Amino acid sequence: MKFKIHRGTKEIGGSCVEVWTSTTRILLDFGMPLVNKDRSEFDFSKFKSLTTSELIERGVLPDIKGLYDETDKLIDGVIISHAHQDHYGLLHYIHKGVKHYLGEATHKIIELNNLFTPQEIYIENVLYFEKEKAFLIGDISITPYCADHSAFDAYSFLVEAEGKSLFYSGDFRSHGRKAKAFKWFLHNAPQHVNYLLLEGTTIGRESKPFKTEEEIENDFVEIFQEQNKINLIYTSGQNIDRIVSIFRACKRTNKILVVDVYVAKILKELSTFAKIPYPSKEFENLKVMFPYYTSRRLKNEGNKTILYEFKQYKITKEEIGNQADKIVMLVRPSMQKDLENIKGIDGGNLIYSMWEGYLQKSGTMKLLDYLTIRNFNIHKIHTSGHADTQTLKQMVEAIKPKNIVPIHTFSKSEYSGIFSTPIVEINDGETISID
Ligand SMILES: [Zn+2]
Ligand SMILES: [Zn+2]
Repeated sequence: MKFKIHRGTKEIGGSCVEVWTSTTRILLDFGMPLVNKDRSEFDFSKFKSLTTSELIERGVLPDIKGLYDETDKLIDGVIISHAHQDHYGLLHYIHKGVKHYLGEATHKIIELNNLFTPQEIYIENVLYFEKEKAFLIGDISITPYCADHSAFDAYSFLVEAEGKSLFYSGDFRSHGRKAKAFKWFLHNAPQHVNYLLLEGTTIGRESKPFKTEEEIENDFVEIFQEQNKINLIYTSGQNIDRIVSIFRACKRTNKILVVDVYVAKILKELSTFAKIPYPSKEFENLKVMFPYYTSRRLKNEGNKTILYEFKQYKITKEEIGNQADKIVMLVRPSMQKDLENIKGIDGGNLIYSMWEGYLQKSGTMKLLDYLTIRNFNIHKIHTSGHADTQTLKQMVEAIKPKNIVPIHTFSKSEYSGIFSTPIVEINDGETISID
């Protein structure tokens, strides 16, 4: 068995690993880069009009035979770890005949992103895998393991063939709402694999243990209790762990949680996979507002029915303004126009609940500037979606790999100071033969 990291040995984002035997070839993830070569923010809109071969030439798409067309034998399967753009964002360039293996909820999230964002990633030939159930692609066996991550339905993979093994950590942590899955993993991990491809998002950033989602929930409670004013929260609509933390904090402080139709739809669709709150009779303190731009997009694209789905749970801008002290509302930059139409919320709290790096985004700055003018107090409550050093060490101790390969990191040279296992620092495109 051989493998090659097409992208990910020296950066976070754009993950793509190829694994092959003499008869079978598979890919693990096919992500959109997050950064350019000089580490400035990657902007895909600049490349959108280019052809596949132009994108390969510019290094946006990895040069992989049999992935984009049938001039070579098609690759035997692409496996997606979770629904974050940096792991699936280039899938639409892949030849329609290629088989895609992913979690069912992951596919659902990708489809919802097609509805609510400019993304157009429609994948055919889809096969759903299940946690801990090994499946075969040719002579390669893949076992998915449930991962605790800020994306819903995330996995790590054990890949085995020709008597050799590799473990791909994907993105993971141990301080989220799936902490139990990680604990279970520590006791049931495959051991002595030849190579562990270990994500190191936080290596080189911070080494102390991260706050748990429960602690984050308590932080929200503290702010909600503090004053009688509206609490607006800017978080990712897809960070289900975080939304659950916010919902629970609302229950504890008798607040009404207002989500928009986009988040409402995500919660509703994903509630078939896990016990999470969604707009329904069962969760009375969860209300839905209909933002101007999102509603217009849905109407223009023929998806008006989604608006009707949540009519029963609607809260108007007037109702929000009239009981501002009872409201916790999820917002994002595109909702500024709606906030302009809500009276009586000046001097409220804006809680920023995402990675600090996104504060530099122009949309975020605009929203914060606008709310500052309305005398909002800005707070930050957040914990990482990725493993802290202690958790990375726990995974290594559980798996006892023969070698570690850094991936999904800006700091591969720092691994050797953390782990006693041999670190194999490789470059993008380098073939490693497992023997
Ligand atoms: Zn991720
Ligand atoms: Zn990632």
